[in-house]
Order: sequence, then C-alpha cells, then structure tokens
Amino acid sequence: MILVTGGAGYIGSHVVRDLADRGYSVIVIDNLTTGHIEAVDKRAIFIRGDAGDPKLLDLIFKTYSIQAVMHFAASCLVGESVVHPLKYYQNNVVETVRLLQKMTEYQIKHFIFSSTCATYGIPNQSTIDEKLPTHPINPYGKSKLMIETMLNSISASADFNYIALRYFNVAGAHPSGEVGEDHDPETHLIPNILRHLQGKSSYIEIWGNDYATSDGTCIRDYIHVTDLSAGHILALEYLLKNQGRKTAEIFNLGNEHGVSVLEMIHLCEQVAGAKANVKIQPRRKGDPPQLVASSQKIRTVLGWAPRYDIISTIETAWNWHRKHPNGYN
Ligand code: UDP
Repeated sequence: MILVTGGAGYIGSHVVRDLADRGYSVIVIDNLTTGHIEAVDKRAIFIRGDAGDPKLLDLIFKTYSIQAVMHFAASCLVGESVVHPLKYYQNNVVETVRLLQKMTEYQIKHFIFSSTCATYGIPNQSTIDEKLPTHPINPYGKSKLMIETMLNSISASADFNYIALRYFNVAGAHPSGEVGEDHDPETHLIPNILRHLQGKSSYIEIWGNDYATSDGTCIRDYIHVTDLSAGHILALEYLLKNQGRKTAEIFNLGNEHGVSVLEMIHLCEQVAGAKANVKIQPRRKGDPPQLVASSQKIRTVLGWAPRYDIISTIETAWNWHRKHPNGYN
C-alpha cells in the first residue's frame, strides 16, 4: 500500500491514477483546502485530513502496511509565499516534520518528496543541474529546501530512504481529459492564458517584461504532468528495488527546454485558434528570470524520458479546459 498525501491535488491526483493503473493499492490523505474530491481515483481509499495529523497517521500506519509515502500536500504558490510566508512554513515545514516523525516511529522507510526548482534561486547557469548551489529567493523555495535538509539528516541517522524530485513548471492534463488543473484563484500561466482564450477574462497579464531574457519576459521549463507522474513511479520502483541499500537522491524533473511568457501566449493562441489580449504588469515578487532544467541525472539513473513536447502539453490542457470550463464544479 502506498500513502499519497495531497492526492486530491493537481499533481497528486495524476500520480494516484497512474499508481492504480500499475496495480498499486493507494491510500490518499487530503484536507481538500485546494484539492478536489472528484479528482481522486475511485480505486484509492480516501481520508480527509491534514498530512501531518498525528492521530490520523497513527490510524493509517496501524491499519495498513505502508510500503512508501509520496508527499504532495503543500502550499505551492511563489507569489503567495512572499505575502504569507508563515503559511508556507506551517503547511510545508511543520506538517512535514509531523509526518516524518510518524514515519520514523512506525519505521516506514521510503519517502518521495515533491520538491521544486525554486530551491535554486537565481542560478548563474542557463540550465540547472542538481550540483548547483541552492539559494532560494522566496519562502516557498526556502520551505522546500528546509525539508530536503531534514530528509538528508534523517537518512544519515536512521534506516530511511528518500528521493526528492525538484519539479520545474508542471503543466497539461491527463490524456483522458478526466483530471486536470483547477485552482481557485488560478495564478498559473498556462491555465490563465487558456481561460482567457475561452473568454473567461478580458486580458492576460504578463508580470514583468523588463527581465534580462530574449524578449524581457520570464523563461520557464514546462513539463507535462503525466511525464512528471512517470518520474514518481520510477522513483518509487527504484526505492522498493533497492531495499537494504541507502538511497538519498535529488533529481530535477523538467523538459530541458525554456519557454518565455510571451512565447507561451503565442503557443496557446496557436493551439486554441484565438487571439489573446495582453496587459503588461510590474514584476511579480519572488520570480527568478529563468529556470530551465538539466534532467540528465534522472534520465541516467532512473531511465526517465519525457514523452510530451510543449505543444502536446498545451493541447492536453486545452482539452481539459474545454471539457471542464468550470473546473471540477
Ligand atoms: N505569469 C504571468 N502571468 C500570469 C501567470 C504567470 O506573467 O497570469 C508568469 C510568472 O510571473 C512566471 C511564469 O509566468 O514568470 C510562470 O508562472 P507560474 O505561476 O505559472 O509558475 P511558477 O514559475 O511561479 O512556478
């Protein structure tokens, strides 16, 4: 049995579905503050609650034989983390400490952690590999780096194995169109553009066009959520296969291809066959100018490779938004 925290969220719900497709039994904990019950695969057991709730974890760890924990539950908005930092240290750091305490108490040894490229800060290299120093510039990235640091310490002191996956910008939707991205409020670039192109807003805002990039807008590396999910399954199988051998690894997960905000607007226009109305706004606090992955390490060690390019990623997102113009509700 695999415990998935945050399994009702955008990424967690895709991974739960892929785990169930591969025959894993899954139990989901999610407090549904941002997740959607409709997104949880019916094959999974669902429990509503906080990922660090000690009573709930006692119940789960006593009742089920948990092979590994995949920890998605978190607050994950860069801009919000600058305005409400304590929310990030509470929901990300404190809740994870509680979860890890219970895992060590019940000797659950395998942990897969949703980390982020926001741990790197403003890198001095055009593509980022895992050896680059980490200097996060926003509380979101700092909170995730604190958890990576804790994982490293626990693995040095106990029989505990982990893989931290540093996500770049996750995008797209399940090819079935049944699960996808639904945040309220929506702050992410691709859903904001597509919702605008559906006529749900009168313009799309560009947060800063004075960065030192090719067209002045921020560059990000967009990875399809299904490719990201495949990375988690490979990570899980690596941990389970290497029982008895210490695993403490960090892998980037990105497509190794940078797309600027302006380029993304043009690509979305192309997929949707509609023209966007653009409004330039000041920079958003906490945004690094460019984040592009080297995913060489996960390719080499886990044999991971992405299957979606940027156009097919936008196409699956567009399919989801057209099928679900109001999200899950
Ligand atoms: N962005 C933008 N307008 C929007 C949403 C995002 O200009 O409506 C920019 C944002 O400032 C960043 C990039 O698009 O440079 C990706 O932002 P997103 O919030 O999707 O992901 P993040 O990089 O913060 O994880």
